[in-house]
Amino acid sequence: MSDVDLLIVGAGPCGLAAAISAQKAGLRTVVLDGGAVVSTIAHYPTYVRFFSTAEKLSIGGLPFIVAGDKPTRRDALAYYRAAVHYFDIPLRQYERVTSIERAGDGFAVHSSSRSRGDRVTHAGAVVVATGYFGSPNYLRVPGEDLPHVAHVYREGHEAFDQDVVVVGGGNSAAEAALDLWRSGARVTLVHFLPEFDKKIKPWVLPDFLNRAKEGSIGTRWNARVRRIEPGSVTIDTGAGEERLPADFVYVMTGFAPNMDLLRQVGVPIDPTTGIPAHDATTLETTVPGLFIAGVVVAGFDANKVFIENGRYHGDKIVARLLGRSAPAEPKLSAELDT
Ligand SMILES: Cc1cc2nc3c(=O)[nH]c(=O)nc-3n(C[C@H](O)[C@H](O)[C@H](O)COP(=O)(O)OP(=O)(O)OC[C@H]3O[C@@H](n4cnc5c(N)ncnc54)[C@H](O)[C@@H]3O)c2cc1C
Repeated sequence: MSDVDLLIVGAGPCGLAAAISAQKAGLRTVVLDGGAVVSTIAHYPTYVRFFSTAEKLSIGGLPFIVAGDKPTRRDALAYYRAAVHYFDIPLRQYERVTSIERAGDGFAVHSSSRSRGDRVTHAGAVVVATGYFGSPNYLRVPGEDLPHVAHVYREGHEAFDQDVVVVGGGNSAAEAALDLWRSGARVTLVHFLPEFDKKIKPWVLPDFLNRAKEGSIGTRWNARVRRIEPGSVTIDTGAGEERLPADFVYVMTGFAPNMDLLRQVGVPIDPTTGIPAHDATTLETTVPGLFIAGVVVAGFDANKVFIENGRYHGDKIVARLLGRSAPAEPKLSAELDT
């Protein structure tokens, strides 16, 4: 006999939305998270605003009301905490799932919590909604673990009147560089390619390029970081080495999802795309009864699935569990279609 019908790994917005769908369908459900609820949002830059409107981030039909159109990080944290209470979602925080194995008709889910120790929960079906932020993409250069080097950007205040180097060519690097400059830091952005990624937000790119053109933010394109030392970053520009002053270093080179749970239980992961083998209609993996939801569905490309569309994944999974046909795909906002 299973403890629950459905166990969801990950209390991000998509895992919570799946739990609400399952509860509404009468399934006994539990959600486990290795950290706090919506911990990914808790780790966003402190003062960031969502690009989605509040309505497109809402789950379970619970209205998400903010004074403007785009919520802040704090608005979202408060909203998702309220959703857990409102829908009475059984949630075990700070309990990391360490492995999933087949057991009879269902699964034995092994987890570990600092205060409650190790535990096994038996579930009829499992959803892996562990998100994209498994581990940072490390540069793997000497000095990357020094205390003045960050892989997550929070806010620019600490860097006022300091020399900083931002490494990366994606949206996070551009936004961090701009925010640091606006906080009074002397900023140089280093990227190994000749330009930014194509997927940079359309309103961020001109802001950055104008700051670079006027010389407010320094740039070193086609340059690779060789080593980081207290007070400096040494780069290879192709024409030789250059030492940039750096009181703080922000390595904004993205994250890689952790697929170990899925791999260990036998789900093949495409080595190129990082996508776990699954049926796109039901989100069931090649292991019957084991599903994926949220940004995990997109593999290495976190720009395909986000809260706006991942919040509906639970409906597909519940339809499959109840033997019903899958609901239609939702429409995304114009900003995300770019
Ligand atoms: C700065 C920023 C702004 C963004 N703005 C928007 C926006 O405006 N609109 C939008 O739609 N999207 C936005 N996104 C993207 C959005 O945050 C992600 O798409 C979303 O968080 C994915 O939700 P998820 O539930 O799939 O995973 P996550 O939110 O990443 O949640 C995964 C959860 O799983 C937990 N977990 C991981 N491994 C385990 C384990 N082994 N055991 C237990 N728990 C585990 C983690 O602790 C985490 O809480 C933004 C992202 C960033 C970084």
